[in-house]
Amino acid sequence: MVNVTDIQVMKPLLAAHGFHFSKAKGQNFLIQSWVPRQIAEDAGVDETAGVLEIGPGIGPLTQQLCLRAKKVVACELDQRLKPILDITVGEFDNLDIIWNDVLKTDVKALVAEQFQGLRPMACANLPYYITSPILSALLEAECFESVTVMVQKEVAVRIAAKPGSADYSAFTIFCQYYTEPEILFDVPAHCFLPQPKVTSAVIQLKVRKERPWQIDDQEIFFRVVKASFAMRRKKLTNGLASGFPELGKTGAAEVLEACGMDVNVRGETLSIDQFARIANEIVRRRGA
Ligand code: SAM
Repeated sequence: MVNVTDIQVMKPLLAAHGFHFSKAKGQNFLIQSWVPRQIAEDAGVDETAGVLEIGPGIGPLTQQLCLRAKKVVACELDQRLKPILDITVGEFDNLDIIWNDVLKTDVKALVAEQFQGLRPMACANLPYYITSPILSALLEAECFESVTVMVQKEVAVRIAAKPGSADYSAFTIFCQYYTEPEILFDVPAHCFLPQPKVTSAVIQLKVRKERPWQIDDQEIFFRVVKASFAMRRKKLTNGLASGFPELGKTGAAEVLEACGMDVNVRGETLSIDQFARIANEIVRRRGA
């Protein structure tokens, strides 16, 4: 197997194919072999797993996934990588490469078609310029057992943040609604070529089999969350009144009182359960 993380191997391989890194495509390739090995290990990939990889690049993580999984499907946007991947992962007969933008791919249909009878997982060193849209698409597809990805460390911290912390955001709640996140390990900038300006981290999002909250209307729930964080330094009543103009500030205060909450509370301190109660109260009032 070609050791693609060895810079003495990688550089001539890229040069032989006239390949230049594209910043616009978020291309920072791994040059330390322990990183893709650790990601594949920690993701729990084994012969019962079907793995969707996003952005194989020249294949360091792809190799580690193919060595462990029953089936790997890798989705890559940049067709210039084709002749290189032919060399680095061409030997694996449990691999399919899809040359497409992952955001234009029907992930749910792909998983249903390719991973029948397997534990579906997503695994990637993500292109950082589209981390949030990719994660949103993977979670909303609701077809994975887990999603294990490398992202900017600050994004990982935001995804795993607790209520009341500076990193707690609408994206935190979105991710924690679908999954239980755990930051696994940091990856310093010197592990990549070219080096990114930031530290990275690998985070695992274990998809919830059951959600522990009663949420009567998912759309209203996410509208409440969005409205609460749109004015995160202000009282929640302001955010709710702006996100739900029909309530006004008085109605927003009544909703909070009906939920047993302080009318001066700020949204950034609330748990998912508390957001759920507010959303359910708004749904109840709309129906009344
Ligand atoms: N997996 C390789 C590694 O770890 O060395 C490469 C990771 S690099 C951070 C991100 C990869 O995602 C690049 O190969 C890039 O071409 C690919 N990519 C960027 N945008 C994409 C998209 N919308 N859909 C699929 N792949 C994409």
